Amino acid sequence: MSLIISSTTSAVFFTVSADKKGDCDVDIYYKNENSYMKIALTFDDGPHPRYTGQILDVLEEYDIKATFFVVGVNAKNYPDSLIDVIKKGHEIGNHTYSHPHVSGLNTYTLTDEVEKCESTIYGLTDYKTKLFRPPEGMIDADVRTVLRSLDYKVIMWDIDTRDWAHEPPEKIAENVISNIASGDIILMHDYIGHNSPTVEAIKIFIPVLLEKGYKFVVVSELIGIE
Ligand SMILES: [Zn+2]
Repeated sequence: MSLIISSTTSAVFFTVSADKKGDCDVDIYYKNENSYMKIALTFDDGPHPRYTGQILDVLEEYDIKATFFVVGVNAKNYPDSLIDVIKKGHEIGNHTYSHPHVSGLNTYTLTDEVEKCESTIYGLTDYKTKLFRPPEGMIDADVRTVLRSLDYKVIMWDIDTRDWAHEPPEKIAENVISNIASGDIILMHDYIGHNSPTVEAIKIFIPVLLEKGYKFVVVSELIGIE
């Protein structure tokens, strides 16, 4: 049975226990309510020369670190963008090599997708990550088993900004500002094709959230696995 995780504001950090198939438990994180006034910005699907650099500039302006869930093939095609992300002190996560629909993939193919992304990032940068986000947030028992065997933490999200749906920047910002709470993980994208609203949206909501007293941290700090 597959479980499709979409936008939700009520999900919490929890650990999925071993199911009837045996030892396939894996830590899955949606947020960490114990992380007072800390929040984590995450960007999926890059790196990409069009938007990743613009996002880095905004983050630098506010001295914020974020977590980028990288697609291996994009890292391979745009290594300079990946290197920029790491040089500026941000965190990297694994988002598979080719961004397939992972639910339903056989174990061998899924393992290959994760390991190929891992080796691509490491080969370009010497960077190792044990954070994983499944494409489209799809996860089932087989996916959990593979991620557990590879010793990954699965990072979901609590706030879906819907930048992927090309919502207007003002609407994205309002969605974040009105729903934010301590420990939230915010889903955004540094590659969604043309006319991305992401850069303009973070320019609006980052200063508002800072003014409210929130502190932006990388995911590993938010969930306490530094
Ligand atoms: Zn994705």
